[in-house]
Amino acid sequence: MDTFLTLKQLQELLRQNNIFPRKELGQNFLIDRNIRDKILSFAEITKDDICMEIGPGLGALTGSLVEKAGFVYAVEKDKKIADILKKRFAGISSIRIEEKDFLELDWDSLGFKNKIKIIGNLPYYIASPILFELLKFRQYWKMAVVMIPEDVATRIVAKSGEKNFGLLSVVFALLTSCSVCHRIPGSVFYPETEIKSVAMKILPESKIKIQVKNHKILWSFLPGLFIQRRKNILNVLNKSFRIDKKTALSILEKLQIEPTLRSHQLKLDEVVKIAEQMAKIKEIEKCNLTSSEKKVK
Ligand code: SAM
Repeated sequence: MDTFLTLKQLQELLRQNNIFPRKELGQNFLIDRNIRDKILSFAEITKDDICMEIGPGLGALTGSLVEKAGFVYAVEKDKKIADILKKRFAGISSIRIEEKDFLELDWDSLGFKNKIKIIGNLPYYIASPILFELLKFRQYWKMAVVMIPEDVATRIVAKSGEKNFGLLSVVFALLTSCSVCHRIPGSVFYPETEIKSVAMKILPESKIKIQVKNHKILWSFLPGLFIQRRKNILNVLNKSFRIDKKTALSILEKLQIEPTLRSHQLKLDEVVKIAEQMAKIKEIEKCNLTSSEKKVK
């Protein structure tokens, strides 16, 4: 079942339903069938696959997904759009359309037996939060093929020493292997957008590249390392983690890290080591605080 709409058909459907694409929900609908086919080809979908589509919109990718996959679970936030999509797929049992904010999805209760594939032309305003959410729940999926803004992709694939190397680069490098498969101009969307996109394929990494003792530590301490990008790492530890400069300096010396480096110049293993040290110090501070609280009582 091909639910792809040409520009004319899409505009007509929007008009009939009195819908104006909502910028605040990142509604730029794909109107190029060749791009649709290309993107889906990267996901190598078979009838054995369960696919989750994030933001199906009016179904540019969805119909083809239903044809290829065993089951499709589509999550769309906009009620009006979700209602139209439900009508378009009425009577088809291999798809479930959920009117929901993807960021509020309760992954643990989804109950799919096998790991799923993630597909989506992501709403650009929340592309990064969606990607972080996917990483958090990476035990549930085996591949993601997503269209994202080019600048987000650049930050994901940036290497240590490049100016875009930051939080996204570190977590993706540690937890996934990913590649840019295709570049997509803004002219293949309605409304057209200035933003260039790429299709990116992401595979959760099964091999551990760098030993991370506790992944929770990464989520709690990495952001602080990359907030103050203009400051050197000594000042970052001082400002972001409220560690006095003398202690910060001795930590960096112990880890053999040059204190004048900026965060983006750190190597991946150095980032992890610093995050782990910060976690250790904060844990000690917490213990000291509770024991002195006990003394006061
Ligand atoms: N997949 C369709 C296409 O390619 O034409 C639509 C893509 S459009 C870029 C993004 C879609 O995500 C829109 O339909 C929008 O309503 C939906 N959306 C926006 N925020 C969302 C969220 N938090 N959760 C789920 N869907 C969302």
